[in-house]
Amino acid sequence: MTEALRPKTLEEALALRAAHPEATVLAGGTDLMVGVNFGRAEPACLLDLSRLGELTAWARDDNCISVGAGVTFSRISAELDDLTALAEAASTVGSPQIRNRATLGGNIVTASPAGDGIAALAAYDASIVVARHARADRRIPWDEFFLGPKQTALADDELVVAAEWEPVDGPGTFAKVGPRSAMVIAVASICVQLDEQAHDVRIALGSVGPTVLRATRAEQLVTQLDWNDLDERALQEAGALAAADVQPIDDLRGTAAYRRRAVEVLVRRALAWTLAARGKVAA
Ligand SMILES: Cc1cc2nc3c(=O)[nH]c(=O)nc-3n(C[C@H](O)[C@H](O)[C@H](O)COP(=O)(O)OP(=O)(O)OC[C@H]3O[C@@H](n4cnc5c(N)ncnc54)[C@H](O)[C@@H]3O)c2cc1C
Repeated sequence: MTEALRPKTLEEALALRAAHPEATVLAGGTDLMVGVNFGRAEPACLLDLSRLGELTAWARDDNCISVGAGVTFSRISAELDDLTALAEAASTVGSPQIRNRATLGGNIVTASPAGDGIAALAAYDASIVVARHARADRRIPWDEFFLGPKQTALADDELVVAAEWEPVDGPGTFAKVGPRSAMVIAVASICVQLDEQAHDVRIALGSVGPTVLRATRAEQLVTQLDWNDLDERALQEAGALAAADVQPIDDLRGTAAYRRRAVEVLVRRALAWTLAARGKVAA
C-alpha cells in the first residue's frame, strides 16, 4: 500500500519533504510510473506536487525568464512559443498525451542525457532553482546541477521549483535524431541559441555523453565567424570539432560511431538554420 502526501502549497510541500526525505516525488508521473509499471520502483510514500499552483507559473521580464517546475511541455509549446529553442524541444517530447502530463521539473530531475528540456536549458545557460524548508532557495548553474546519468546536485530534502535564465536576443532551434520523427527518445539531439548582442553562440548536445554537453570548441569557432558571410566549410569544421569532443556510448538506440556522425551533421545543419534565421524570428 502506497501512502500519498498531497500538499496544496509549496510551503506545505517543503515541510513534508523535510519530514519525509524518503518519499518519492511525483509530478506528471511519465518517468516515475514507467519505473513502477516495470517493477523498477516501488515507492512506499509519494509526495504529489500536482496541486501546487506556485510550480505551474512562468514569468518573464527584461532580465529573467523563469519557468516553474510544474509547467508541462504542452504549455511551454503553447504559451512560450517565441522561445524557439525551448518550444521546439518541448514539442518533440513524447506524444500529446505525454506532453500534457510531463513537466519541465520532472525532465530536470530525471536527468537523462537525452532530456529534451535539459538541452534547451543548457543552450540558455539556465540555472535550476531548488528550495528547502525554512532555507533560502539555491540557484545552481545547469552544468553544476547535472552530475551524470540520473545524477543531480539535488539534496534529499529539496525540491526543484523552477529553471531560470537571462533572455537572449537571437534565433534558436532544436533538433533530434531517432528512428522515426515522433515519440522518440533522442539518439542524438542539438539545441542552438544565438546571442546577437554578444555575437555568441551556444551549442548544447544531448544523448552523446553522461549529461547534456556544450560543444565549446565549435562555439568558439562560430563566434569568430562573420555571420553575414556564411562559410559552409567553417560550419563543417564546427561539426567536426563537436563530433570530436562528444563522449557517446554504444547502446540499444545507437552506436557511438553513429552518434558522432549524427552530431557532425546536426551541428552543421542547426547552425546553418539559426544563422539563416537571423532577423526573422525572436529568441
Ligand atoms: C512514452 C514516453 C515518451 C517520452 N518521450 C520523451 C521525449 O521525447 N523526450 C524527453 O525528454 N522525455 C521523454 N519522456 C520522459 C518524460 O516524459 C519526461 O522526462 C518528463 O519531463 C518527466 O516529467 P514528469 O512530470 O512526468 O516527471 P515524474 O515522472 O513525475 O518525475 C520524474 C522524476 O523527477 C522527480 N521530480 C519530479 N518533479 C520534481 C520536483 N519538482 N522536485 C524534485 N523532484 C521532482 C520524481 O521524483 C522522479 O524521480 C517520455 C516518457 C514516456 C513515458
